[in-house]
Amino acid sequence: MQQRHLLPDEIDQLLDSESSVDVAPLLAHLDACSACVQQLADARVVCDTIEQLQHFAPSPRFTASVMAQVRVVEPWHVALTTSAQRLIPASRPMRVVMLASGSLMALGLSAGAVWLSTRPDMTLYAAGLAASRVLRALLDATGTIINDTFGQTALDALRSGSVSRAGLGGVVVVTAIGVATIGLRAAATSARRARE
Ligand SMILES: [Zn+2]
Repeated sequence: MQQRHLLPDEIDQLLDSESSVDVAPLLAHLDACSACVQQLADARVVCDTIEQLQHFAPSPRFTASVMAQVRVVEPWHVALTTSAQRLIPASRPMRVVMLASGSLMALGLSAGAVWLSTRPDMTLYAAGLAASRVLRALLDATGTIINDTFGQTALDALRSGSVSRAGLGGVVVVTAIGVATIGLRAAATSARRARE
């Protein structure tokens, strides 16, 4: 028999019929201690009374009504991830299509970038020529004769590398990816709408 009185959690174990704890020593103490028997009886009354109370459940709209009043601050990285996930189509076939066209596009862009980097003079010359032609046309229209100096300066600036090759390539790639993403997203959305 235990020499001390039962602890509150030991009384809980006696009340809990599904408790896996060995309650034999506790029961042995109860046989010899009327104080603990009384304490257990009091606790049982409380338990039974609680059991008889009406069970309340929150209304189904409780969570929504609380959350409507909570201002949720979304960290920027979560917002970014969510936006990125929204860009991925929900259906598996559309994901495959998107992946395939994305890979093709990346391949094409890479090939284009490599080609551009091997032909920088031609690219810059073409850009400079276009700028110079536009400029000349404008100046011709106004009837001035400083077009050559001005056109040559622009051409030289382009040739001297003030327009960086890498920068040009980067802008092209980023723009193409942006356009491709928006286009594919629009296609996915319209396909989904057509299905619904
Ligand atoms: Zn006792």
